[in-house]
Amino acid sequence: MRVAVVGGGLAGLAAAHELAGTIDEVIVLEGSDQIGGKLRLADVGGVRLDVGAEAMLARRPEAIELCQSVGLGQQLVDAATTQAAIWTGGALHPLPRTVLGIPAEPADFVRIEPRSVPVPDEDVSVADYVRERAGSDVLDRLVEPLLGGVYAGHAETLSLTAAAAQLKALGPDPVAAAANTEPAPGPVFAGLRGGIGQLPAALTASLGDRAEVRLNCVVRGLSARGARWDVVTSDGTEPFDAVVVASPAPAAARILADVAPRASFALADIPYASVAIATFVFDRDLDLPGSGFLVPPVDGTAIKGATFSSNKWAWLSQPGRTVLRASLGRYGEAASLQYDDPTLAQIALADLRDALGTLPDPVAWHVQRWGGGLPQYLVGHLGKVDTVEEDVAAVRGLAVCGAAYRGIGIPAVIASAQGAVEGLLRDLGH
Ligand SMILES: Cc1cc2nc3c(=O)[nH]c(=O)nc-3n(C[C@H](O)[C@H](O)[C@H](O)COP(=O)(O)OP(=O)(O)OC[C@H]3O[C@@H](n4cnc5c(N)ncnc54)[C@H](O)[C@@H]3O)c2cc1C
Repeated sequence: MRVAVVGGGLAGLAAAHELAGTIDEVIVLEGSDQIGGKLRLADVGGVRLDVGAEAMLARRPEAIELCQSVGLGQQLVDAATTQAAIWTGGALHPLPRTVLGIPAEPADFVRIEPRSVPVPDEDVSVADYVRERAGSDVLDRLVEPLLGGVYAGHAETLSLTAAAAQLKALGPDPVAAAANTEPAPGPVFAGLRGGIGQLPAALTASLGDRAEVRLNCVVRGLSARGARWDVVTSDGTEPFDAVVVASPAPAAARILADVAPRASFALADIPYASVAIATFVFDRDLDLPGSGFLVPPVDGTAIKGATFSSNKWAWLSQPGRTVLRASLGRYGEAASLQYDDPTLAQIALADLRDALGTLPDPVAWHVQRWGGGLPQYLVGHLGKVDTVEEDVAAVRGLAVCGAAYRGIGIPAVIASAQGAVEGLLRDLGH
């Protein structure tokens, strides 16, 4: 039995990891010249670090368990600090404890206007939910920057149900409900000493000769041939018994067009935000507070947040060196990234200087662009996902997974891959 996995990002590699051992031949078809997708390491001034995702939610088991199972258990580390700030009105304010931006304690820089309003059954935007029940200031100065940090999206368009289920769970009076929540025990985020960009290579190494990974192999389409599949790639057409499509939604929409047209149509309706990460290395100790800061869009800055990487991760901390990274780009604002790399780095650095005061010139910098980086779970997103899943489930030997569906965070993406493989193996009678 031969199974193709389309896409060698985290979802595709995690799917291959699940399939290998049960299926004789697993072939990952990756369109670009490297595995990993949004997990990537780069050298910046001699420091090897993450220029894509850099932290994993530690409160779900999937990512931690996967790291352990591919030999990275010893590298797992907690973030050294998670005390973040909000940069608003020209000052840095410690981020109060919140439930996705709904304050669980007072914050002097935000006017909180609690009200109890029933939560409608149908999906609404995060903004509609928050504005009515906590006020515009909470929306603008807390919820927006937190959503911007995760989705690079806007509360006005993001789905309460799909993008902010923790908020919906707070019910009609979220401010009172948040104040009654206990601070969750244990660390929130985990990383890997050396960067979580090591995970793709470790996953691939763990596959050994139980699976093959092909680079520069773009999948263009699928067609059914009896009970088998013809997979059309940039290298030609090849037969497989089953296919797991683990590419982002636009590619998945094209690939599924002939075999699952309703799924294809729904996938084509999932937009993406383009983002960029600018990383700076300084050759001195800078006294920076906590793990970094987020910026509300109402403050009109180019950057939407900064991570003080050498504060956050002990493995990056070294006397006489400071590492910072800034993120730029929000959904619908691709023009804000349309500068060459040196200009974008200067724009980010200027904002960092505004926020932090005098900063020396960095000894090294790096700009990583993520065009179409983050799927937008707009109002009604889960309806689209239901359509995709129903249409794909009706086709034998076909599955989909990845960040486009039910969670963009690393543990959710791994869970999506595991669920897809479980369904596929059942389908194939394994
Ligand atoms: C800048 C940034 C920072 C992030 N930070 C965090 C974080 O700190 N913590 C966290 O939990 N999450 C974070 N995320 C989200 C998380 O990294 C992603 O949701 C996750 O890695 C996506 O994995 P994926 O496999 O679904 O998709 P991808 O990583 O996009 O992988 C898809 C793969 O499919 C390939 N492909 C596409 N089309 C084709 C085709 N036609 N044929 C063959 N191959 C194809 C692509 O080249 C790519 O390798 C971040 C995302 C970004 C962009």
